[in-house]
Amino acid sequence: MVIVLWRESWLKPLSIYDIETDTCKFCKRILRDQDFVTSCEFCDIGIMHDNCANEHVLNKHKVEVKKKIELHRDKRLHDFQ
Ligand SMILES: [Zn+2]
Ligand SMILES: [Zn+2]
Repeated sequence: MVIVLWRESWLKPLSIYDIETDTCKFCKRILRDQDFVTSCEFCDIGIMHDNCANEHVLNKHKVEVKKKIELHRDKRLHDFQ
């Protein structure tokens, strides 16, 4: 079964003053105008590019992601019972 991970799709414009950093915490590059950024839901690493966050989560939080998928699976099973 293919499981995809939905990320909130709305865009919330934030200035670098709001997020209190001007670099991506993952790749350390300077954030540029209209970069897509997000934070990690599993740790407080800080603001990262959306792409960087994907890599970060898949590399650092394999266990958490698996758990989440299992939880989701249990819930669905429960709904059907
Ligand atoms: Zn980055
Ligand atoms: Zn993290």
